[in-house]
Amino acid sequence: MLNPWQCVKVFMEEYFYHCPYCFTEVSLLVDLSVSEQEYIEDCERCCNPIQFSIQVNGNQEIEAFSAEPIGQ
Ligand SMILES: [Zn+2]
Repeated sequence: MLNPWQCVKVFMEEYFYHCPYCFTEVSLLVDLSVSEQEYIEDCERCCNPIQFSIQVNGNQEIEAFSAEPIGQ
């Protein structure tokens, strides 16, 4: 019998993007096991909230990545 934990692999990829507010290049660890992700995280430099939309394809590759400012 297979231990279910042996089947679970964590795929993380460091992705570099530019903050839409301060234009600093920052890196983000993307979980490649989740195909569609949307979340909000603060920029580590200027602390403004950034909306991330990430799509991962079946080969665990980042297919789409966007970092947008939250509209006022
Ligand atoms: Zn920033």
